[in-house]
Amino acid sequence: MSLSKKNGTTLVSGGAGFLGSHLCETLLAKGEKVLCVDNFVTGSDRNLAAIHDHPQFRLEARDICEPFDPGIQIGRIYNLGCVASPPHYQADPVQTMRSCVVGTINLLELADRHGARFLQASTSEVYGDPEVHPQNEAYNGNVNCTGPRACYDEGKRAAEAMCFDFKRAGRVDVRVARIFNTYGPRMQPNDGRVVSNMIVQALRGQALTVYGDGSQTRSFCYVGELVDGLYRLMEAEPTPQAQVNLGNPDEFTILELAELIRLQIGAPAGIRFEPLPNDDPQRRRPDIACAIKLLNWRPKTTLQEGLAITVDYFREVVKPGAVPAGV
Ligand code: UDP
Repeated sequence: MSLSKKNGTTLVSGGAGFLGSHLCETLLAKGEKVLCVDNFVTGSDRNLAAIHDHPQFRLEARDICEPFDPGIQIGRIYNLGCVASPPHYQADPVQTMRSCVVGTINLLELADRHGARFLQASTSEVYGDPEVHPQNEAYNGNVNCTGPRACYDEGKRAAEAMCFDFKRAGRVDVRVARIFNTYGPRMQPNDGRVVSNMIVQALRGQALTVYGDGSQTRSFCYVGELVDGLYRLMEAEPTPQAQVNLGNPDEFTILELAELIRLQIGAPAGIRFEPLPNDDPQRRRPDIACAIKLLNWRPKTTLQEGLAITVDYFREVVKPGAVPAGV
């Protein structure tokens, strides 16, 4: 892997969010200067508590949908600037699409002007409700462009399309991470995703909500390992294939996940079945052969291990009156 010379500051859009804040910390620990840009729709200052005063760290509150130039040399751009949890991205679907399309084009143009390398945080959602299992990067997906998830799925697909146009035109050195379900400390208690929902419910002694019959599957990656994968992808030598799946290939049904969380918390929480949302993918598991080959990256944290750390985090967050510190 080439640790090519980084000319300038690394810009992280969405840097105050769940993934972004972990990424900013990792980059600072590697000696990079970091400019974090966030519109604070789902990002939070609290996520940055540990790095807020770091001399190499700068924070700008702004929306990537407005063109901007930070006035310093930018050498790397990680574009994580989009609301990512289904209930949140569906709450303002037009803004979700705008962040994906307008936000990404603004940052690609910024990368072009600065000669910066660009990493797009894409998603397993580009595969939609997949007919191919596990999903590899050659699969073109099965996305419903008229459904409630389309603002995010199609938005991220459009963002990828623009990345590949800038790459084909030789304007920007682009890498695309297709990120599968990720969990860990700093997920918001009201995030709406399954891991945070169930942990918070179990800690509060409430029934765990299972949508549908719980037979649908997901593959969950611990946040620290995912961030390591993003960094490796950014620093890898350019290859003809720019899109790489990042995720943990261990696959679980949602009922299995509920059981693991109940065991972890040791609470006799029941299960409440609720209707399956529209277009909810039935199966999802990444084929990570590319990541192993190109990045020498393979997650090792088991779901049980990662859940133990995440449960400890949420125990602090859901304590009455608690304000979570940066973890
Ligand atoms: N889900 C669930 N209970 C919840 C939240 C989600 O059963 O409280 C299900 C959801 O329907 C989906 C899976 O868990 O099948 C993962 O949902 P999540 O929103 O975490 O992410 P997605 O992979 O759907 O983007």
